[in-house]
Amino acid sequence: MIRLPKPIAPSEIAFDIDGVIADTMESFLNIARKEFGITHIKKDHITSYWLEDCISIPIHITHAIIDRLVKDPFGTALTPIEGAREALSTLIPHSSLTFVTARPDSGPITEWLHSILPEATRHRLNVIATGEHAKKVDVLKAIGVSYFVEDNLDTCDSLYREGINAIVFDQPWNRGHTPFLRVTSWKEIMEMIKFD
Ligand SMILES: [Mg+2]
Repeated sequence: MIRLPKPIAPSEIAFDIDGVIADTMESFLNIARKEFGITHIKKDHITSYWLEDCISIPIHITHAIIDRLVKDPFGTALTPIEGAREALSTLIPHSSLTFVTARPDSGPITEWLHSILPEATRHRLNVIATGEHAKKVDVLKAIGVSYFVEDNLDTCDSLYREGINAIVFDQPWNRGHTPFLRVTSWKEIMEMIKFD
């Protein structure tokens, strides 16, 4: 269990989506296998956030798959990461939830979030699509979020420099020593949050 000096209030924390709530890499590998016959790559082989640095899939195929994932979370059978749905469900009655993604368009992924959280009314889920990883930090500063759960270490670095607490959601592509809090499950995230 991770002990913080002060527990996090539900309104102080925001979330990345891909690699934190959505098991996007699983969908990526499923499409690579089913549609492109690429069967030799497993999730543990993905040791860098930047796929071209760690796996031998032609770049045009990587881009084609990512394009599909971005445009069509339902057609690509995107599923939640274990425990994410239940945790967000628990948070919804306590606070509106904010998600900040580098996806270019918030529409499809917002629909997907509502599909996994049918109890959330429109105003409870606030999804901001920045289109670029580098813009996340300014958005989070403007909103006044204190904690952000993220799987991309570069983004965690920029948050850290701006005084926002990055919480790394452990994935094969973000291992290694970092100064950030690191969680390996949604259970660990929920243990850091205090409900009134
Ligand atoms: Mg992510």
